[in-house]
Amino acid sequence: MTQQSKTGAVIRGTGVVAGLAYGPARWVVRPDELDPGPAAGGGDSDEQDQPDEGRVEAGRERFAAAARTVAERLDQRAALATGVSAEVLSANAVLARDRGWAKAVVKELKKGASVEAAAVAATETFAEMFAKIGGRQAERITDLRDICARVVAELRGLPEPGIPEFDEPGVLMADDLAPADTAGLDPALVLAIVCEHGGPTSHTAIIARQLGIPCMVAVGGLTAVVDGTHVLVDAAAGTVTVEPEAGPATAQADADRRNRALAADWTGPAALADGHPVHLLANVQDGAGAEDAASGPAGGIGLFRTELAFLDRASEPTHDEQVDLYARVLGSFPDARVVTRTLDAGSDKPLAFAGMTEEDNPALGVRGIRVDLIDPGLLDRQLDALAAAGRRVGGAQSSPWVMAPMVATVDEARDFADRCRQRGLTPGIMVEVPSVAVAVDRFLPHIDFLSIGTNDLTQYVMAADRMSSDLAALTDPWQPAVLRLIRAVAEAAARSSDGRTIPVGVCGEAAADPNLACVLLGLGVSSLSVATAALPFVGAALAEVTFEQCRELAALALDSDTALEARDAVLAARS
Ligand code: PEP
Ligand code: MG
Repeated sequence: MTQQSKTGAVIRGTGVVAGLAYGPARWVVRPDELDPGPAAGGGDSDEQDQPDEGRVEAGRERFAAAARTVAERLDQRAALATGVSAEVLSANAVLARDRGWAKAVVKELKKGASVEAAAVAATETFAEMFAKIGGRQAERITDLRDICARVVAELRGLPEPGIPEFDEPGVLMADDLAPADTAGLDPALVLAIVCEHGGPTSHTAIIARQLGIPCMVAVGGLTAVVDGTHVLVDAAAGTVTVEPEAGPATAQADADRRNRALAADWTGPAALADGHPVHLLANVQDGAGAEDAASGPAGGIGLFRTELAFLDRASEPTHDEQVDLYARVLGSFPDARVVTRTLDAGSDKPLAFAGMTEEDNPALGVRGIRVDLIDPGLLDRQLDALAAAGRRVGGAQSSPWVMAPMVATVDEARDFADRCRQRGLTPGIMVEVPSVAVAVDRFLPHIDFLSIGTNDLTQYVMAADRMSSDLAALTDPWQPAVLRLIRAVAEAAARSSDGRTIPVGVCGEAAADPNLACVLLGLGVSSLSVATAALPFVGAALAEVTFEQCRELAALALDSDTALEARDAVLAARS
C-alpha cells in the first residue's frame, strides 16, 4: 500500500450503484498477498522431495482435491444465493472444475513447480490468454485469479482469502472484487463497495445493484486509503472523501438513508410528480428473477436477457425447454409488457452452443443478431419457442414483444421484423450500435418499438471497451454525446414517417441511476428498465420531479462538455 491519503482528500471514480455511506475502510485480503511459493525448478513443499512421477501424481491429486473443495463451497454458496449471484457463483464453481486448468497445472508440475506455484502459473497462462482475447474473457481474469487464490489457501490449510470479518458496519475496499465475494455480502454490514478497478457493467456492479449496496469502481489511487480510515462514499457524485469532518458526513449519510427509506416505502406504480405516466420495468434473466420482479412494483419486464439463462449450457436448449422458460417469464406478468431479447451471444457473453469461433476483437465481431450469419437456425428456433410460449400464456402475452440485440443495418431490422411477424410476435430492436441511432428514421417503419442499450451504445460511441476499468470515465453513460443520440432517437420515434409513435425505452444500466433516469425521461424516453433492486430508487426519484423539470434537467445535461459536468449540473439542480 502506498502513502495514506490526506485528510479531506477527494478521490474520484465511477459510481455504479447510487448511494452514500460513511464508515471505516475495510480492505479485502488480496489474493496476491498469498505467496504461492517457488515456481518451476525450486521449492520447499513435501512433494518436492519425491521422485518425479510420484511427485507429479501427488501434486495432481492435491490440486484436484483442493479445487474440488473450492468448487463445492462455491456450489453451496450458489444454493443459498438467488438470481445473478447464484449464476455467478455456479459459473465460478464450473471454472474451479475446469479440466483445461487441471491439465495446465500438471504441465507446470512436470516442469518441477510446487503444486501451489503450478496452480498460480497455470492460472497466469490462462489470464494472459484471456487478456489477449479481451472483452468478456478479460473480465473473467478476476474470477480465475480469485479461484486460484482460494485453491492455494486450501492447499496451505489457510482460511479463504477475500472479504474480512465485519465486526461493525464499514466500507468494503478492494482492487477488484471477485463475483464470488460480492455475491455473499451482507448489506447490513457492508455500507458501500469501492474498487480501484472494475467497470460500470462488471459483475460486481450488477450484483451490488441486486443487493442494493452503493458501489463505485475505477477509483484510481484507492490503495492510498489505509484500512480503518473513515471515508465518505458518494456513489452518485463519484467521490470518496478521506477522513471528512465527521459531523456533516454522518448527517449526509443519514439523509441518504432517509432517501433510501423513501425508496423502501415507494410501492409504485411509477409516475412523475405531475402524474405523467412512466413505464418502469425490470431487467431479468430467468423465471425466478421475473417472478421476483412481479412480486414488487415493476410495471413489467423491459429486458429479459435470454442468453444469461443459457450461459452454462454446452448444447442448445431444446424447444420444450425454451418454451417452458419463456412461458414462465411471460406468465409472471400476464397483463403487462414483457420484452424478451433474443440471444445476445458473443463478446462478453459467449454461448458454447452458438458456434462462434475465437475472434481478435469480439466486441466488434459476431455477436447478437450477427450470430444468425453463422448459425441461421438458432434465431428461428428461439422465435418459434417464443411464439409457442406466447400461445401457451395467451391473453396480453399472445403476441410477445421480442427484440434483437446488436442490430446495425436496416436490412437486419426488416428481416428480423418479418420473421417475428410471420410468427405473430411483436418486433423491436435494440439501439446499441450507433448506426441505428444516427439513421433511426430509416429503421422505424419496420419495427414496433425501440430499446436503447446504453451499455453498448456508450461503448461504441466512445470507442471504449465497457469492461476496461481504465476507460470507465469514457464508458460513463452521462457522456453528453450519448445523451444527444438518445434525444435524437426519442425525437425521431415520436414522429415516425408512417404517423405512428414508436415507444422508446432504455434498458442499459444508465436507467438505474435515479438522476440520469430523470434526464432520460426529459430526453423523450417513455420507459426505463432496471434491475429489480434499483427500481424503488428510480421510482422514488421520479415521484419527486415533474415532466417539465425532467426536460430542464435534460437540457442541463445536454449543455455540458463532459460526463462529470453533466452529472454535477443535474445533481446541483436536484439538491
Ligand atoms: C446494453 O448494452 O445496454 C444492454 C442492455 O445489453 P447488455 O448489457 O446485455 O449488453
Ligand atoms: Mg448490449
